[in-house]
Amino acid sequence: MRASFRVKGGADANLPPPGGSAARPLMPASPPAPAPPPPNPAAAPPPARLHECAGCGQVQRVPHLHPGEAARCRRCDGMLRQGRADPLGRGLALGLAALVLLGIACVATLMQVSTVGMVRATDLLEAPEAMGASGLWVLTAVVLGATVVAPVLRLSALCTVLAGLRLARPPRLLRRLFTLSERLRPWAMAEVMLLGVLIAYSKLVDLVHVDIGVALYALGLLVLLTVAAEVALDPHAVWEEMERRGVPPLRIDHHAPLRAAEGVVGCHVCGLVCLPEEHDRPCPRCGSRLHPRKPDALARAWALLIAGAILYVPANAYPVMQVIQLGAGQPSTILGGVVELMEGGLYPLAALVFVASVVVPVLKLLGLAVLLVACQRGARGRLRDRTRLYGAVNFIGRWSMIDIFMETILVALVQFGAVVRILPGPGAVAFCAVVILTMLAAESFDPRLMWDSAGANGPAAAARIRRR
Ligand SMILES: [Zn+2]
Ligand SMILES: [Zn+2]
Repeated sequence: MRASFRVKGGADANLPPPGGSAARPLMPASPPAPAPPPPNPAAAPPPARLHECAGCGQVQRVPHLHPGEAARCRRCDGMLRQGRADPLGRGLALGLAALVLLGIACVATLMQVSTVGMVRATDLLEAPEAMGASGLWVLTAVVLGATVVAPVLRLSALCTVLAGLRLARPPRLLRRLFTLSERLRPWAMAEVMLLGVLIAYSKLVDLVHVDIGVALYALGLLVLLTVAAEVALDPHAVWEEMERRGVPPLRIDHHAPLRAAEGVVGCHVCGLVCLPEEHDRPCPRCGSRLHPRKPDALARAWALLIAGAILYVPANAYPVMQVIQLGAGQPSTILGGVVELMEGGLYPLAALVFVASVVVPVLKLLGLAVLLVACQRGARGRLRDRTRLYGAVNFIGRWSMIDIFMETILVALVQFGAVVRILPGPGAVAFCAVVILTMLAAESFDPRLMWDSAGANGPAAAARIRRR
């Protein structure tokens, strides 16, 4: 087999088959390339591996990448893999530092406010409780889950995996822990919380005296370290190291899928490309169940999307917050909050909240609906653009939580009895549900189905989607 990948900033490169074996092509035919030089086992780089593009379903061989190199899908231009220098060592160092900062951010004071001799302070662990005190316990659970539980679990699991791989005999549990860490990735929202806290600060300075606590600096550093850890860590390298160290209970034959004509199955979690007959069995590397495409992707995405669209109405119609100053106060909706920010002259923040809370949810709902309709109609046009649109919808979803996090901080801090109080409104619960439902809808959808229905992945894939 001869397949190609695209290296960042360079031309397409053709790869020789491992050991010169003549497997049947999984890729469209490429022009003939010169014969490979005779193998020299001592100087041989790590072998090329098969990757299934998560955006279009094209299976491609990706060679060992040097730091700074990247392999992109030659069909949809999606990122297949990026070469990193010491991905495991740097990932562990940055992950441990982030975990320490998260501990500080959880227990130290985030912000302290005072007015007419009364003082109130809050931290990341305590702030969500105030929502529960107003009866909205569901928001307490969501905020605590997204800002404390998910980041702590994700970072702890990641650090345990990377440290465990340094042991002489790494335990089998590591693959479950790394699966958990990868699944929690979209739900750990420390960086969204940071923006929420900063917007809350801008709103509070007009109302009361505000002192910033150590936890806010820790949260800022934590966001920087989390981004650095994301850049440093190559998840494929972690799975390959587990395989090398014998963590999976089975020996994995990477050459077998090369001989399959079509219908190979790419694992959703670890990316291992398996034989078609392994469909519906546990992945030999990570243990997750293998499916050619996400199960019931279209039906699940539609159900979640429709539920999100219905809840978008009460999210905007009902107040999300109420500021009661000296016994009087008007409830304010999401749009009302944007208008208040504009009246206070905070135009950049007003624009940010408007985009995150109004534009993004609408774009997500409309964007996903367009993708689903086009997929079901078997549209063949703009497949690359639609795949990019899906990537954008999937990426921006979590940022709409800014409004909920800002409100959590405001409600936790501004509780000064008859002088001034901030209470949450029922619209906040509906809005939070819209964000979560649209995130789940985007995750349930499988962009490879768009390429299947357009006939780009062969007749078997097209027939599978027609049966849905
Ligand atoms: Zn692709
Ligand atoms: Zn797997």
